[in-house]
Amino acid sequence: MKDHSAVLVKNGFVLTFGDRGTAIHGGAVLIRAGRVEAVGSTDDVEGLAAAEDDLVTIDAKGCVVTPGLVNAHMHLYSTFACGIAAAASRNFSEILRNLWWRLDRAMTLDDVRLSAVVPAVRCLRSGVTTIIDHHASFGATRGSLSVVADAVREVGLRACLAYEVSDRWGEADADESVAENAEFLGSLPRRADPDLACLFGLHASFTLSERTLRRCVDAAGGAGFHVHCAEDKADVIAAREAGFLGSADRLARLGVLGPKSIAAHCIHVTPEEVGMLAASRTTVVTNPQSNMNNAVGVADVPALLDAGCTVGLGSDGMTADILEELRAEIFTQRQRTGDPTRMFMQAYDMVVSTNPRIASAVFGRPVGVLETGAAGDVVVWDYDPPTPLTADNVAGHVVFGLPAARPRTVVVSGRVVLSDGRPSGLDEAAVAAESRRLAAALWRRW
Ligand SMILES: [Zn+2]
Repeated sequence: MKDHSAVLVKNGFVLTFGDRGTAIHGGAVLIRAGRVEAVGSTDDVEGLAAAEDDLVTIDAKGCVVTPGLVNAHMHLYSTFACGIAAAASRNFSEILRNLWWRLDRAMTLDDVRLSAVVPAVRCLRSGVTTIIDHHASFGATRGSLSVVADAVREVGLRACLAYEVSDRWGEADADESVAENAEFLGSLPRRADPDLACLFGLHASFTLSERTLRRCVDAAGGAGFHVHCAEDKADVIAAREAGFLGSADRLARLGVLGPKSIAAHCIHVTPEEVGMLAASRTTVVTNPQSNMNNAVGVADVPALLDAGCTVGLGSDGMTADILEELRAEIFTQRQRTGDPTRMFMQAYDMVVSTNPRIASAVFGRPVGVLETGAAGDVVVWDYDPPTPLTADNVAGHVVFGLPAARPRTVVVSGRVVLSDGRPSGLDEAAVAAESRRLAAALWRRW
């Protein structure tokens, strides 16, 4: 990937997203030094770039231009599960034991690297430039977050990483996973990469002892947590047996929830716990496709929103494509309530407004929006609308049109990481061949 001092994307239909989202016909975006310097009409913005020496110009005529999208809950490490022969599972606990815990327990650091590179490319191909990932590789815990970080940055993706601490393999492995989070957190100042961040990862209340949770709160040193919460009834039952209202209550009382923390799923929560999530300003991230796949239930997202919770959208490793999840979010809530008027604008807002806000908080600067000073990410979609696209019907096109289109060009922090739909500086056939070889070896020994 070659670094240019500035990137100009011009002549596109520009959608800025964010809380004050606008639409600009014949629009342009100028990125300088990795940040958005100007957004506006091509005539106005092109003039600002005229004196630039090392300028790459991308003509987006006939294309839609958006900021990079954000996936607020991802598991890159799930790559080798595709096609794996796992024993049939009757419930969520068995799915974890028969598939996910066996898989991550068998991983080497080479597996970790390829498992990250493959979906990182898919993210870019889906217009996603920022992910909040949740990693587990109990076969090779120490150093794994650095391997994931190097892999995603090589592809060009921006990522917030976390290692899922769990007592499922005993205290020694739990302690290693605590140390891995702490070590990676501590390495971030040395890396000095504004496109890397870290949250302290926790699996879920039901696989974490009080001792381990207290150690995590100490080791996090004020960093936020990224944890699964009330994904399945099993998590709630375990918390109730320990005297809590549920798993959200237990996490709240042990100091895990708060304005910097992300609680994924929050399906089986009581009204009191919804109030706790809102009062603590914990970010909730819903993952509809995964929940359907695991048959664990459907989060009452309207109730969480009504209570004042911030609710973002993630894919839980099911897909790299957050627009797939946007559609699933609408459909699953409509099916749950039998009300076809539900969740259209709320789900759209998750992608264009809430997810960018979540990422901006994590990375400490505006991410996922096209505005002056924001991270310099642009996606040029091969989408020549078959029906009129105006400022008034953007949501309809994002939900029902854009998912059928693919990005032609993707820029992350001013770096062109995808051109003509292909990742820059990466031999995709070689990556796929190596991934298949490593996956086959893991399947033989898991
Ligand atoms: Zn997850």
